[in-house]
Amino acid sequence: MKRLSSWIVVALAAVAAYSQSSSPSQAVIYEGGRLIVGDGSTPIEAGAFMVQNGIFTAIGRKRDIKAPVGAARVDLAGKTVIPAMINVHVHIGYEGYTSWGAENYTPQNVLDHLEREAFYGVAVTQSVGSSPTDASIQFQRDQHAGKFPAASRFFFVPGMAPPEGGPDEVLRKATTALHVVNEVSTGKEARAAVQAMAAKNIKSVKIWVDDRRGTYPKMTPEVYEAIIDEAHKHGMIVHAHATTLPDQKAVVRAGTDVLVHMVQNEKLDDEFLTLLKEKKPYWATVIGLGDRTAVCEHDPFFEQALPAQVIAKIRATTVQRPLTPNCAPLSPNAPRREAILAYNFPRMIASGARIVLGTDTGIHPGHTFGSGEHLELARWVQLGLTPSQAIVAATQRPAELMGLPDMGTMAVGKHADFIVLDANPLENVRNTRQISSVYLDGAKFDRDALLARWKKADAPQ
Ligand SMILES: [Zn+2]
Repeated sequence: MKRLSSWIVVALAAVAAYSQSSSPSQAVIYEGGRLIVGDGSTPIEAGAFMVQNGIFTAIGRKRDIKAPVGAARVDLAGKTVIPAMINVHVHIGYEGYTSWGAENYTPQNVLDHLEREAFYGVAVTQSVGSSPTDASIQFQRDQHAGKFPAASRFFFVPGMAPPEGGPDEVLRKATTALHVVNEVSTGKEARAAVQAMAAKNIKSVKIWVDDRRGTYPKMTPEVYEAIIDEAHKHGMIVHAHATTLPDQKAVVRAGTDVLVHMVQNEKLDDEFLTLLKEKKPYWATVIGLGDRTAVCEHDPFFEQALPAQVIAKIRATTVQRPLTPNCAPLSPNAPRREAILAYNFPRMIASGARIVLGTDTGIHPGHTFGSGEHLELARWVQLGLTPSQAIVAATQRPAELMGLPDMGTMAVGKHADFIVLDANPLENVRNTRQISSVYLDGAKFDRDALLARWKKADAPQ
């Protein structure tokens, strides 16, 4: 599963070089905090770590870390530190908060979404199946070259679907306008499309298998088996959107690397669980998008990034509509969905599905960039993960999936991407929301400036 390409190494070196604000070569020692390093190990109490040139150069107990002469010191007594998160599944670029669509898709808007991710502690953000390939490659190059201010690092995965199939009806409007999705009808076309991606050094591909309750053409086994086979020949990862039990079985059996979504309409059976034990796919749950928006609870953690008029509109929407944020009473199906989630989720985990953070944000403003991650973590814990397992699934494991061996945990030699929290998330996972500061490549991300910009944009004209 070694997927790191040399261009990523070069790119990350460039990111490390540009995002340091001042004198990156000066060693900085952060001391006194509780360190949750992201690999599931026991936290280091009264810990310390050192950062130089954007990289962790030492980590351990405070009394064991010796700072060099001239090192700067940051006191983290009473704080808890976790690695910055990595989100493997969003839909970037179309959300405009007061509008939504292809007309919003600009490098500036992609950057805006990545800044929102960074604000909430996300170091890497991957847009899956909905980003135009050439524009995305250009954006990555520009970000790596330091042309943008600090933000979450952008990754993308092209998508494949049958003609007239693919993304949900909201997303399809934008992806159709920009000709984003590779439409393929035969195994031969599928292989050619994957080869074209490999030639551009693309490392992953997404397939939409689902027929959306019979309203879309379904991807045939001939096509997805060809895609998976061809992708694996080129060392590429396949993400599969499949929401029903028969479809999830079929794509896992065919060798899909990442399952997106969970089966929500029926209980998993032994055949599937046996298959999971054998194949151990990664699994991006994207549960939160199906939940009522936190805006309905008047939660400032979520509202701080949203324009007042968007909040007001969501609260004023009191009828249930799919893929539309609303504060309607819960649908009559909600208890059934919950019961099936509660049944299926622990069984997926126990059978070896390797859970990774994915949120599906970008479809609507009720569930949005950065804050959605914290919601997803809390959902996992509610459904049976420990907070420590949830943190691993948001940090170390997505780094492993994406082939980023120098990210995802706090360890010597890795990028110094971390979140300083005012409270311990191992006691209550919702404490990931108590963000004191976010660091990317050892540089403090200016959350206050971003908040001020949002407030200014939101002020009455
Ligand atoms: Zn999605």
